[in-house]
Amino acid sequence: MIQQAQQILKQYFGYDSFRSGQQQVIENVLNGRDTLCVMPTGGGKSLCYQVPALYVEGTTIVISPLISLMKDQVDLLHSNGVQAAYINSSLTFGQINETMENVKNGTVKLLYIAPERLENEIFRQELSKLHVPLIAIDEAHCISQWGHDFRPSYRTISSLVTLWKKKPTVIALTATATPTVSEDICSLLNIKVEDSFITGFSRDNLSFKVLIGENREQYIKKYVKNNENEVGIIYAATRKSVESVYELLLKNGVRVAKYHGGMGEAERTEEQNRFLQDEVQVMVATNAFGMGINKTNVRFVIHYQMPRNMESYYQEAGRAGRDGLPSECILLYSSSDEQTQRFLIDQAQDRTRIPMELEKLQSMVDYCHTENCLQSYIVQYFGETRISECGQCSNCIDSRPKLDVTEDAQKVLSCVVRMGQKFGKTITAQVLAGSRNKKIEGFRHLSTFGILKPMSAKEISSFIEFLISEKVLLVQPGQFPTIYISDEGKAVLLGNKKVLRRTKIEVSAVKQDDP
Ligand code: ADP
Repeated sequence: MIQQAQQILKQYFGYDSFRSGQQQVIENVLNGRDTLCVMPTGGGKSLCYQVPALYVEGTTIVISPLISLMKDQVDLLHSNGVQAAYINSSLTFGQINETMENVKNGTVKLLYIAPERLENEIFRQELSKLHVPLIAIDEAHCISQWGHDFRPSYRTISSLVTLWKKKPTVIALTATATPTVSEDICSLLNIKVEDSFITGFSRDNLSFKVLIGENREQYIKKYVKNNENEVGIIYAATRKSVESVYELLLKNGVRVAKYHGGMGEAERTEEQNRFLQDEVQVMVATNAFGMGINKTNVRFVIHYQMPRNMESYYQEAGRAGRDGLPSECILLYSSSDEQTQRFLIDQAQDRTRIPMELEKLQSMVDYCHTENCLQSYIVQYFGETRISECGQCSNCIDSRPKLDVTEDAQKVLSCVVRMGQKFGKTITAQVLAGSRNKKIEGFRHLSTFGILKPMSAKEISSFIEFLISEKVLLVQPGQFPTIYISDEGKAVLLGNKKVLRRTKIEVSAVKQDDP
């Protein structure tokens, strides 16, 4: 079976072998098992359903929410000699009828459909007359309300399989699913846990770096100048900061483009093209930029501010090094970023999603404070279990010795206890620093007031973030998040567990290493 699939791979796509995850997924699908494939962008998900579609008889239905990508996919398949078609709102009524006629004649191997179509009963009836052995659901995280891009029309997919007497095999594919989202997709589509394949998340050619408390403007000016022969993207959290970073680079003579939702469509397209055609060195953008962009030679992706969750971060950072060559993904963190993201999350229309968004934000903050391998943190976040250190991220190459900070951690923890585990990290840090802030006057009597005094409230806050990333302290999310002690924290307090931390970062030292 797999030999025949390999022949299809060679004949239609010109590749000699499957990537490691692809083969398992394809075998599973060809065995008629409903399958979930979680693979990062660029990992090669398309072939996971296209090869089986060519293997089996009949027309495979591919559900995809991205109208612009549908046409690209179909064009690409045509150029490989595969009969494919799409139906979405960009077609006229007449064109849709014509396409359906072609499909009924049985020549079309892959039919791409926008999920909204499935809400139309007449269209469902039409589909039920076709021979459909396989249904591929692209961007499957859209079916889960725990995902970052829930689309109500995706919910109609669950009942789609019942249209045919012989149930088609289902393959759901996504690049961005946390374990919770994966479980949700599986339960909504009746996919067995053992049929989910989470694979290929680590990107060996990317080196990750988190820099805390840098002067961001200075840093990017210098970085862009030192890498003037390389192309890169700088992501900023708001339109306003895109504009200011853009102006900054422009003033410094950098060839730069910008992209955000506040610009007109024509201008956005023009700026995007300038970047795609290498007319500029740097694209400064909000997260509105990048969907469906296939520029392979992006050598660096810098996040000027921390994004709102790991899904967004990895999707954006992952746009570096698509050609497999070494590339850098740098995140410039400042504690105010968390406030910015909280504010943006709070703007959400759907209030029910806010607690989940805040939880995701916390994982993002933890990423910025962990002292463990960053690549490992990422793949673990996405549910991979085989973890090995990357050896090249800013944490792996950090040779500063780890110091025993158990005593300081105990001071923090006992202060948290004395404050009734009901307050946030900023107030707690101020109490520990013995700040003169009026708001904390009520805590002056505590024995832990000012107990970490030589440290500033900001440094203590950062230390608390570190303790959170180590899961010694936990966060009760909410509008005013509070911190409390975990079981591990209790062990630290009782002296049964040590806490080790690298010596404080000397920003000037980091700068010397960094271009
Ligand atoms: P995804 O949908 O996961 O983002 P794609 O399916 O677009 O990724 O694949 C990314 C790139 O990798 C494409 O250019 C594709 O042709 C290439 N690719 C996929 N599978 C293989 C393979 N087995 N061997 C070589 N190249 C592959």
